[in-house]
Amino acid sequence: MELADGQKILPVGKALALIRECGKNRVRRVRLTGDVAGYKDLPILLHESKKQGVATEIVIAGQAQKTWLADMFAAGADAFLVDMEGAADGATRTTLQLLRNMRFSNVRARWHMHRGNTEELKAVVETAAGLGVKELLITGAKPHAGNKMKAQLPDWSQMEAAAALIREYDGSNAAQGILLQDKKMRLTVESCFSQLRAFMGGTDARYNDNQGIGRGCEAGRSFFAVAADGSFTPCLYMEENAETPSTGYCNTENVVAFWEKSPVLRTLRCSGERIRECADCCFQRRCLHCQAWEKDTICPMYHAL
Ligand code: SF4
Ligand code: SF4
Repeated sequence: MELADGQKILPVGKALALIRECGKNRVRRVRLTGDVAGYKDLPILLHESKKQGVATEIVIAGQAQKTWLADMFAAGADAFLVDMEGAADGATRTTLQLLRNMRFSNVRARWHMHRGNTEELKAVVETAAGLGVKELLITGAKPHAGNKMKAQLPDWSQMEAAAALIREYDGSNAAQGILLQDKKMRLTVESCFSQLRAFMGGTDARYNDNQGIGRGCEAGRSFFAVAADGSFTPCLYMEENAETPSTGYCNTENVVAFWEKSPVLRTLRCSGERIRECADCCFQRRCLHCQAWEKDTICPMYHAL
């Protein structure tokens, strides 16, 4: 749920109604994103979520104030997800350090890996682990305005190096000399980064275990989003899908109606197996790329059978 986007603010009454509907329909987790620090009614939403049995995860980009974190904690926030720019991102480090000092343990970090920063992976893992993060999510390059990719996906050799480091980390918990103060941190390649997940499973689909709903893009399959203007969308990155203005948005007021009846979601749920640009790629059956991409985006991981 996007609370504010710099121009629009989700009215608190609407947000509360959505949370109550989630509670009533056994939606057990809601992620709160956007300009969360500027959303003055956030404590009210957190109280209501607790009451409804809906766990909340607050997404933080940049530096958060200590008093604000303490207030959110007191109001009932269940988890924080902190977006890291990189290992040297001072604002993120400060936020993670504050959460650590406050002994708030349910903290995850997320890092976007792309062609220009892949070599930072080891340093990012080391930094997150050193700051007591419970889980580091590695995610892929995301579409930008107009569904153009903001950054390119890593190339084959960069994927190989990243996969080797992740495998080693999972196996020994001390990959390539990474010094871990907290050896409990989980390292997860997010479903949004399907290419790396598929790559790690190998080129032979028979032995590749990247399967099921989490193998790739989960928009409309395991979640959907509500934008700051109250609109429903499969994923916030599809918000400006100029190609499908009639399907990128659905102005329903109702969570259940959207989830069960939206033609957009129905199309997304059955589009995964027949993506034209992936035909003949050896990963095709084990990969489902970002559904918000422009159709003509070229995947550098394409590997013919
Ligand atoms: S071409 Fe398609 S199936 Fe192959 S790696 Fe790229 S996104 Fe995945
Ligand atoms: S469309 Fe899918 S892969 Fe792309 S950002 Fe959204 S959930 Fe992730």
